[in-house]
Amino acid sequence: MIKIASPLISEKGKANVIEVLESGMLASGSWVTEFEEKFSNYVGTDFAVATSSGTTALHVALLAVGIKEGDIVLTTPFTFIASANSILFCGAKPVFVDIEPKTFNLDPAKLEASLEQYPKAKAVMVVHLYGLACDMPAICEIARKHNLLVIEDCAQAHGAAINRRKVGTFGDVAAFSFYPTKNMTTGEGGIVVTNQKEVAERCKKLINHGRSGRFTHDSLGYNYRMTNIAAAIGLAQLERLDKFNEKRIANASYLSNHLNTLEYVTVPFAPPDFLHVFHQYTVKVPSDKRAELIKWLEEHDVDSAIIYPYPLHKQPLYANLGYDKEHYPMAEEASEEVLSIPVHPRLTQQDLETIVSTISTFPG
Ligand SMILES: *Cc1c(COP(=O)(O)O)cnc(C)c1O
Repeated sequence: MIKIASPLISEKGKANVIEVLESGMLASGSWVTEFEEKFSNYVGTDFAVATSSGTTALHVALLAVGIKEGDIVLTTPFTFIASANSILFCGAKPVFVDIEPKTFNLDPAKLEASLEQYPKAKAVMVVHLYGLACDMPAICEIARKHNLLVIEDCAQAHGAAINRRKVGTFGDVAAFSFYPTKNMTTGEGGIVVTNQKEVAERCKKLINHGRSGRFTHDSLGYNYRMTNIAAAIGLAQLERLDKFNEKRIANASYLSNHLNTLEYVTVPFAPPDFLHVFHQYTVKVPSDKRAELIKWLEEHDVDSAIIYPYPLHKQPLYANLGYDKEHYPMAEEASEEVLSIPVHPRLTQQDLETIVSTISTFPG
């Protein structure tokens, strides 16, 4: 089976982990500090605070910029559930804004429109889905005009950029995930990046029990720390992130060059000057053909995935909160048409050819 995701752990990554294990310093320590420095350097921010997951990174990022009970945070309904759940963790209310059908990302025009309905919104949380940056110039402009905080969920977009400026540098604060399927991994792990010193300091405290001195705690905090073991994997991964992304981009371009002539397949789109890092390679197929295509791929040993089969307002959790009365036509249409096929850096030329020939011979 050609898998949809497959992490690549190098000898260096393994050796780093052994070194941590032999040192006896397994929890958060100098490896984490080094990882934070190198990751913020990579992205281009002044500060980084490593965490136990992308979800915990989002939670403390929101708290650190001041999101609190009753606040409205505008965000996309077409994402992983953790994006919007992190808003609920703060007692705030996610309000969904529909997506652009071509990029699958939050639509700036619809953001403007929903600000008329929610003029008191405190923040917008953008999600750079599948490895493609949102239209940050437009979104940041709207945010400035309406005095909105900007939070970036970069869980799928390590290294993605607009005109060479990387995601994670546009907003007030940003969060990344290092889950094994992402563009780089630490096993489980995440990181918050920001240029604001106070925001970084708040995150540092929030992930460490609100600790102010060795035995004193002056605020409510959590245990969301990254371990040295995770950071040891992350340091080796970070060195190879650009290579991983180059391979993803080359795989995507091979797939698009061979699939874009097929009548029933719409290949991914990236605006000029946007560096898409293809966390997922996601095509659109007519909704009445998708299930058969998945079956056909499976019969030919090619894995695929619907990411995501339900927009968040249709998830039982959100439906129970009353969101099912709302309508986001573009997110709904995307959830019926998207199909992600393998693009990860472990694919061989043979794998790519198998994927292309399987899809090209789909009887429809
Ligand atoms: C993976 C992911 C998260 C959550 O990250 P975890 O490390 O799994 O907690 C959040 N948002 C998006 C868009 C993701 O893809």
